[in-house]
Amino acid sequence: MPTPRVGVGVDVHPLEVGRPMALAGLAWPAEPAGCSGHSDGDVAAHACCDALLSAAGLGDLGTVFGTDRPEWAEASGARLLAECARLVGEAGFTIGNVAVQVIGERPKIGPRRQEAEAALGAACDAPVSVSGTTTDGLGLTGRGEGIAAIATALIVPR
Ligand code: MG
Repeated sequence: MPTPRVGVGVDVHPLEVGRPMALAGLAWPAEPAGCSGHSDGDVAAHACCDALLSAAGLGDLGTVFGTDRPEWAEASGARLLAECARLVGEAGFTIGNVAVQVIGERPKIGPRRQEAEAALGAACDAPVSVSGTTTDGLGLTGRGEGIAAIATALIVPR
């Protein structure tokens, strides 16, 4: 049996009042602030991307979508995730699953968890678990300065 491989990914983006919130493949129109950055700031999708790339030994978002691929500069998190899944497949792997946890005071993931799992799962064509937690008011996520996400991916050589 081929040995499965795991990968890890972490992402953090600052929150900016008035910016649309993109998180876990979903829009959150009721949120007063969104994640800033070059892209849509979807920390959950970005963490999933890095976990997949890590598992396959393909590097990270910065190297895969670096300055030599400017066409990806404004891509949504879901599009980046779809491309990472394609690269992982191209490298000879099948995705077992991806798990991502969002760390922040808001938005609350629970009420839209299944929707988020469907959105990210569709993007990478694999099961994705989405969960949320807070830091009880501590640190940059606790103060509402940003949102963080941590992800793990499991892939299997074909
Ligand atoms: Mg990011």
